[in-house]
Amino acid sequence: MSAQGNGPSRPFIPHLLLLIEYEKDKAIYLQGDVLEQMILVIRHFFYRSYVGLGLWPFIILRNKALKQDKALINHERIHLRQQAELFLVFFYLLYFLEWLLKSLYYLDFYKAYRNISFEREAYLEEKNLNYLRDRKPYQGLKYIIVNPMDH
Ligand SMILES: [Zn+2]
Repeated sequence: MSAQGNGPSRPFIPHLLLLIEYEKDKAIYLQGDVLEQMILVIRHFFYRSYVGLGLWPFIILRNKALKQDKALINHERIHLRQQAELFLVFFYLLYFLEWLLKSLYYLDFYKAYRNISFEREAYLEEKNLNYLRDRKPYQGLKYIIVNPMDH
């Protein structure tokens, strides 16, 4: 990906990647626009503690004000990237399988959730707004074994 010099908090949408590489200037403008439309606000969703959720190609937020939360948006964008890489289906299969196995391991649902490899990567890098620009494909899978919270 060639994204240097476009500012650190540039919005990112995985499926626009090709477009960005071909038509840089135009795509940046488009990107901002598209991102706005890709953020949905839904007050109630699956679980009570939910604030935001990445469901490729959308980011779903509990309320409008959360759009300003750069770390949260970045966190969900990291999930969008992970999902695009794994064709959505494999992301959810792995996500659920890891949650299940880690629930048995930790005997704690929240701890299990925080230790799913995809969540480890997203929580570790959510404040790094350049992360997605520099990230190599499938980088998150290493966190199945590496636990950043161990350090
Ligand atoms: Zn997450």
